[in-house]
Parts: sequence; C-alpha cells; structure tokens
Amino acid sequence: MSEPRHVVVVGGGIIGLATAYRFARAAWRVTLIDPAPARGATWAAAGMLAPSAELLPGEEANLARQRRAVAEWRTLSGELAALVGRGPTINIGGTLLVGWDASDRALAAQFAQVARAANVEVDFVRREDQPDLFAEITPRVVDGYLLEGDGWIDPDDAVATLLEANQLLGVEVMTAWVRRVESGAEGVVATGDSFTVHADYGVLATGAQQLPEGVTARHVVRPIRGITSRLRGLDRSRQPTLRAYVRGRTFYLVSRPDGYCVIGATAEERPEARVEFGELARLMRDALELVPGLDGTEYVETRYGLRPVSEDLDPFIELLDEGRWVWASGQYRHGVTMAPLASLEIVALVSELS
Ligand SMILES: Cc1cc2nc3c(=O)[nH]c(=O)nc-3n(C[C@H](O)[C@H](O)[C@H](O)COP(=O)(O)OP(=O)(O)OC[C@H]3O[C@@H](n4cnc5c(N)ncnc54)[C@H](O)[C@@H]3O)c2cc1C
Repeated sequence: MSEPRHVVVVGGGIIGLATAYRFARAAWRVTLIDPAPARGATWAAAGMLAPSAELLPGEEANLARQRRAVAEWRTLSGELAALVGRGPTINIGGTLLVGWDASDRALAAQFAQVARAANVEVDFVRREDQPDLFAEITPRVVDGYLLEGDGWIDPDDAVATLLEANQLLGVEVMTAWVRRVESGAEGVVATGDSFTVHADYGVLATGAQQLPEGVTARHVVRPIRGITSRLRGLDRSRQPTLRAYVRGRTFYLVSRPDGYCVIGATAEERPEARVEFGELARLMRDALELVPGLDGTEYVETRYGLRPVSEDLDPFIELLDEGRWVWASGQYRHGVTMAPLASLEIVALVSELS
C-alpha cells in the first residue's frame, strides 16, 4: 500500500484548523504547526455569520460567497457532530441595524438601500409595532432595519471542536514558529528553531503575519486590528444580532443564550496586537449608551486580533514558487464565516496539484 500524501499546514487559526481537518478527512497525513493555535484573529472574533450586515457597495460577489459559506457551516457542523459527538450550533436570527442619532439613522437608511439593491431582504421595523425586537436597546432608538439571513456561531466552540476532530483524525500538532519554508521537485520543507518537517505540499494559513522566509508572494496582507469585549449577564439571544451606527462608528452586540455577550466593531490600521485604552473606552461608551442594561453586567475580558486584509479586500489562495506551497489569507472581517468554504477550496487546489 502506498504512503498517504503528506501536507504541512502552517498556522492554526480557524482557516488552518478547518484546512487540516479537510485534508485529514481526505486521508492525507497532516502536520499542523502554530506556536499558539487559535490565538490569532480567530480568538478575538465575535463569530457573526453576517453576509447581509457585512455588505459593502460593490461586494455583491462576496455576499454570494458568504451565503455559500454559511450553508457550508451547517454541513461541517453536522460532520463534526458525527465525528466528535457535538458540532457548533449555527444560530440564524438576522440582524437589527439601528442608528443612534439623526446622522447615524441616515447611515442606516443608506446601508438599507445598498443591501436592498444587492437583493438582501430588508424590513423597516418600528419599536411601537415590534417592541421585542428592541429589547434592551435605549428608548431613544425607535426604529431600524431587519436584515435576513445573518446569524452567529461561538468561535471558541468551533475551534475546540475542530481541534478535537483533528486529534481524532490523527493530525500531528506542533506548537512552534515556522521560520523558513522551501520547496523543490520532491516536496516542501518547513523549518523552525529546533525542527525540520518534510512534506509533499504546504499550506500557509498565517493570517495577518508576515510570511516565513524562503518564499516570495504576489499578494500583500496588512493587519487591521479589532477588539471585542466580553460581558456576562444580559440576554438578547432570542432577538437578532444588534448592529448600530453610534456617532458614525459601528457597533455590534452578539448575545448568547447563557447571558454571554460579545461587543465590538473597532477597526484600527495598527499592527500592534494589544488593547488601546481609548479604543476600549469608545467601545464601552457606545455600548452603555445604546444598551443601558449592560451597566450591571459582569465584565469578563477584552480580546484583540489582527484581521488579515489584502490589497483589494478580497481573500485569496496563492500558489507560491514551485507550486508546492499555497498561501491562503486575506479573510479580513469574514474569516470565521468563510472557514468551511475556504478550507474546501484550499484542499481542492492542492489535490489538483498532486
Ligand atoms: C475583533 C475581531 C472581530 C471579528 N469578528 C468576526 C466575525 O464576527 N465573523 C467573522 O467571520 N470574522 C470575524 N473576524 C475576522 C476573523 O477573525 C479573521 O478573518 C480570521 O480569524 C482569520 O483567520 P486566519 O486563520 O486566517 O488567521 P488567524 O486566526 O490570525 O490565525 C493565523 C495563525 O497563524 C499562526 N502563524 C502565523 N505565522 C506563523 C508561522 N510563521 N509559524 C507558525 N504559525 C504561524 C498564528 O500564530 C495564528 O494562530 C474578526 C476579527 C477580529 C480581529
């Protein structure tokens, strides 16, 4: 019997973990290398699956891809449940988009127009007609837009399930940095401070980090930092995910059934992975003004991450050098949503090469 093909996956964020899983399912031997799996941008993500609310003008193709990715999450979740006994729950309840003041309401109206033009179902909703939708939101907000199709998953749960599935499937995990990668006719080499791994093919799922030495790439990624704060003690989970414009800034609240809330939406063009006090203060102020009930909740933690952003804002899968290394990055603000689809595409591409 011939040896299984061997792939090394560098980077264990949501993209690397899902890719390792797909390869292992396809009977490849898989080595995954990351000094701290799932502690990159994936750690900070709110877990929104929000093709509708994340739409930008001109991004209709992206909308269609994200919708496909949400459908792929259902399939992947079912597969994971069959393998490890539980799969991440896909919660689809839509998004409620509101504005804090008159100019924020104008921004929300503009967004609704763009979304409708892209065939997103958008309903104008009033508090007086549907008070439940506005539960916990300050009374000064009296109307908004309900966007269909959006939802959320718990990324911590998704990552934990993927790690468990990978372990069951025999994926070898090495906690280390890859410093250099090389390729030749025979295969690829990944080198760290105290190891060398040889494989047939390699995938660089390194998020917003610089590529290791040894390869040159056409694409460039830059980091856009974001933070999410986590609170416990307010339950809006039976209502749609809340999105808002607050004095021109964006804000979101993802509410889970156990009272765990994730708030966020900061976007800073900074490469430093840290929490800046002013950034945190603005997020907290927006949160308290929009959802006054957060005042009495328990503060759990604030997480930070660097979103990987390409030149044209689109994700990419690039074949490097001799065609044995593949670089998959640029997932920007959609990486959790896109992971099931991106991983399928990565494995399909590498399988074609082999
Ligand atoms: C605040 C915030 C909120 C977000 N919210 C959402 C959301 O609600 N929904 C959504 O879909 N997306 C969201 N995103 C975006 C999403 O988190 C990212 O697009 C996604 O996590 C990117 O995944 P990744 O695996 O490419 O990168 P990462 O998660 O950053 O993982 C890259 C991994 O590669 C490893 N690595 C890098 N270089 C090397 C090397 N040389 N050797 C070994 N390992 C290496 C790193 O250690 C890291 O673990 C959010 C992002 C942020 C920051």
